Amino acid sequence: MSIVKRNGINFRELVLVDKIKECDDIISFYFKDKDNKALTKHKPGQFLPFQIQTEEPKYKGVMRTYSLSMVPNENMYRISVKKIENGLISSYLHDNLEIGDIIEAMEPAGVFTIKESSKNRPLVLISAGIGITPLLSMLYEESKKRDNIYFVQAVQNSLIHPFKNDVLMICKYKNLSNTVFYSNPLKDDKEGIDYDFTGRINKEWIRNNLPLDGDFYFCGPPAFMKALKSNLIDLGVKEESIYYELFS
Ligand SMILES: Cc1cc2nc3c(=O)[nH]c(=O)nc-3n(C[C@H](O)[C@H](O)[C@H](O)COP(=O)(O)OP(=O)(O)OC[C@H]3O[C@@H](n4cnc5c(N)ncnc54)[C@H](O)[C@@H]3O)c2cc1C
Repeated sequence: MSIVKRNGINFRELVLVDKIKECDDIISFYFKDKDNKALTKHKPGQFLPFQIQTEEPKYKGVMRTYSLSMVPNENMYRISVKKIENGLISSYLHDNLEIGDIIEAMEPAGVFTIKESSKNRPLVLISAGIGITPLLSMLYEESKKRDNIYFVQAVQNSLIHPFKNDVLMICKYKNLSNTVFYSNPLKDDKEGIDYDFTGRINKEWIRNNLPLDGDFYFCGPPAFMKALKSNLIDLGVKEESIYYELFS
């Protein structure tokens, strides 16, 4: 039976079926139900709370949450994890969790999801770094239904540019706007070829390139989100059109 009870809470046992390196410090982990039962289909933007199944005291009962980074489905969950220096669980996942290992997960949760009111407005999805995970899931799902999507990704350079090909393929195939910023390009990273703009997403660029009557969803480091929100408000975007997720 894939359900285990811990302190009165039901957890579903998931088995790791694949582990794929996305870029320098990010690995994606693919999980299935241990008994191959159907999973709860998540809403794009939701996260998976879980704990590792281990007897080691320092990990036992330690919960973490990771956004589900793939198209919603009942067969498989994917999370994509950035390894944090001295980070307890991100390091464990990168270095110790192997195919066949079990984690104990709660149901997908979270309210950072596409709102009903956003359905008829342009949709702007902006990420920095590992903050791409919930937005990628939104991109997979929403691109099936509409073409008024603007996807903006900010990373440091090509070494840590996760999901470059996935985003390129979806946006090219669906004819969606896709812009990549590198804040710190490598010597061989070519602006206009490997990425679009050097530097950070700024107010001027937003004014000239994004629909200010759209709904904005974003995720990234706190400083990025603070600056972005402040720029959007300055440009007249209404607070009720701004949605974001903090990874802390
Ligand atoms: C809604 C949500 C969604 C998320 N989605 C993702 C996702 O998709 N991908 C992703 O990679 N992450 C995601 N996160 C972040 C993730 O949940 C973890 O917080 C992250 O992986 C760090 O966990 P950890 O156990 O590795 O680090 P922790 O052990 O919790 O450490 C975190 C930081 O604290 C420092 N630290 C630890 N112990 C000490 C100490 N004793 N003294 C000083 N500093 C210390 C570490 O160096 C590290 O910088 C998400 C978080 C939330 C809330």
